[in-house]
Amino acid sequence: MFEGPFSESIIKRAQEKGLVKINVTNIRNFATDRHKTVDDTPYGGGAGMVLKVDVMAKALDSISDGYRILLTPQGKLLNQEMVTQLSKRPHLVLIAGHYEGFDERIREYLVDQEVSIGDYVLTGGELAAVVVVDAVLRHVPGVLGKEESAKKESFSNNLLEYPQYTRPEEFQGWKVPDLLLSGDHEKIEKWRQEQALKRTKEKRPDLLTRKDCLSQSGSD
Ligand code: SAM
Repeated sequence: MFEGPFSESIIKRAQEKGLVKINVTNIRNFATDRHKTVDDTPYGGGAGMVLKVDVMAKALDSISDGYRILLTPQGKLLNQEMVTQLSKRPHLVLIAGHYEGFDERIREYLVDQEVSIGDYVLTGGELAAVVVVDAVLRHVPGVLGKEESAKKESFSNNLLEYPQYTRPEEFQGWKVPDLLLSGDHEKIEKWRQEQALKRTKEKRPDLLTRKDCLSQSGSD
């Protein structure tokens, strides 16, 4: 589940350039019985299997110190502000569950933060971990071709990105705004700022009123 995303494109190049190191640890290697058991039925009964705290503790002990993030639909919702904060940490440890979930003591004693990538339930935390790695890496200096590209993207300054166009100037009667072809960079910059504000108001008005809440997230 990790090989594909981690060996392509920007994430691949970031590792090749030595800007980031990604290690995958298989929890199963830390099981203590011969069946390599990592989960068990829940105390008190009920469906599903629960990841064992003793196995998880051993797996985490094998990793050098880092900021431990438990991926769970119950965590704080991932957003760009949190991503930026996480990118400043030298070492992140992302913990992915599977099937039912975790022994509560993992949450309570073994992790620093719980993070969710959205209000829906995935079968496992692996894809959530890939999402966090991808989003965080874009903020590590040198990972993107131009430093500018992450700064002007959607969610920077709580705004969505302005509309972009490329050749041809006209396709099926659909035209590129004249201003963008004018070469007047000052006017183009002003237009972009206006458009960013306009589309944020239209598509995500919540972003414009969320500044305080955004700057708090990820600070713990
Ligand atoms: N029973 C759990 C609950 O109701 O909270 C859901 C378990 S889910 C099927 C299995 C695993 O997928 C979780 O332990 C977590 O690691 C991961 N997962 C599922 N949805 C996620 C989300 N929205 N964000 C982050 N991780 C998620």
